Amino acid sequence: LSDRLTSVFSSLRSKGRLSDADIDATCREIRIALLEADVALAVVKDFVARIKERARGAEVSQALNPAQQVVKIVNDELIEILGGETRRLRYAKTPPTVVMLAGLQGSGKTTLAGKLAKWLRDQGHAPLLVACDLQRPNAVQQLSVMAERAEVAVFAPEPGNGVGDPVAVARQSIEHARRQQHDVVIVDTAGRLGIDQELMRQAADIRDAISPDEVLFVVDAMIGQDAVSTAQAFMDGVGFDGVVLTKLDGDARGGAALSVRHVTGRPIMFASTGEKLADFDAFHPDRMAGRILDMGDILTLIEQAQKTFDEQEAAKMAEKLVSGDGFTLDDFLEQMMMVRKMGPIKNLLGMMPGMGQMRDQLNQVDDRDLDRIAAIIRSMTPGERQEPKLINGSRRARIAKGSGVTVTEVSGLVVRFFEAQKMMKRMSQGMGIPGMPGGRN
Ligand code: GDP
Ligand code: MG
Repeated sequence: LSDRLTSVFSSLRSKGRLSDADIDATCREIRIALLEADVALAVVKDFVARIKERARGAEVSQALNPAQQVVKIVNDELIEILGGETRRLRYAKTPPTVVMLAGLQGSGKTTLAGKLAKWLRDQGHAPLLVACDLQRPNAVQQLSVMAERAEVAVFAPEPGNGVGDPVAVARQSIEHARRQQHDVVIVDTAGRLGIDQELMRQAADIRDAISPDEVLFVVDAMIGQDAVSTAQAFMDGVGFDGVVLTKLDGDARGGAALSVRHVTGRPIMFASTGEKLADFDAFHPDRMAGRILDMGDILTLIEQAQKTFDEQEAAKMAEKLVSGDGFTLDDFLEQMMMVRKMGPIKNLLGMMPGMGQMRDQLNQVDDRDLDRIAAIIRSMTPGERQEPKLINGSRRARIAKGSGVTVTEVSGLVVRFFEAQKMMKRMSQGMGIPGMPGGRN
């Protein structure tokens, strides 16, 4: 995808504004890219429609060219759909917290049970693994091995008692967990190779018997286009609260993540990335977005463009400051706002020629301070901003009232401004003019 997008985007790069035709052309490529990543067709259609709408409504950015802007929109939208922030496991008010795993055979439920148990144990919980897959001959044994590796307890029917009843086992396990002080119960269930009624009925029966706090739908990332029908079937047949994506260590591009999320609206909570117990992590929407679109290079490009733009703005401001035109409170405010827009103050000052001396002063200012400073300056009259010496006691009181701060804060700002102004004067006398040796530190 990267290559293809790059070529489309380079053809767009020189234009000032994104036309409908440009958006359509870009969206055609994005559509193909998503299909290549195995996102289901219906989901792709919806997604692309959303992108088009946003691209048309978007303000034209000064920092990015239209093409870059579209990529940014695509990436942002993808991250948003994939869930924004990670959702955490919900614990029951009264233990044990019951977590039930559901999914097709081979999706990775039993492996996940072990991973989750270890993860919980590492956080100080005392999980119990429950073997409710009594279908496959080796399933109980497989879970016991997992439990051993995770160093947690396992609850399983006695061997040799014939085929057990998974619903009864599930029910008994909760009692057992209470007696043995396990605070989390992880119930591993049987899967089938395909969706069938029997499987759904058994899972639903187990669910009804134990009222889980979380039902997690476990889905193999390699499943691709089938993710939609599988997720839908489990949603209808059992219902689930969260999704775990497995086998992300494979070469699947992860389209299943977008499909499942889009179709069920349930958050993807965990990612499984291998056969070892430690191959397990919370799900990160931003990483997954990058993987689905496979556009790391382009995103880097956008970051660079944004940074260059910010640097140019900073240089422009610095030039103004030292041009001898006088440094007013309006400039001060503008400078503050620029600082805010550019992110962490610490990173900024290095970009501003001659501004190193202000670093310490500005380092003490955080975003909330900036809001207050802006409010104070905006409560001043234009005359006061141009000629801050005018700001006497009664004016300070008025400004304080207008901006909802104390008089002391207004005075503090005025003092700080005069200090900055002094610094500007020194700089304009040659200490920090861009291009002059010794200006930077
Ligand atoms: P279940 O039938 O849903 O219980 O699935 P299993 O936990 O038995 O896993 C099926 C197969 O997939 C096993 O061979 C696992 O070792 C393997 N597996 C599970 N999760 C992952 C994963 O994240 N990455 C890889 N590479 N293999 C996995
Ligand atoms: Mg299993």
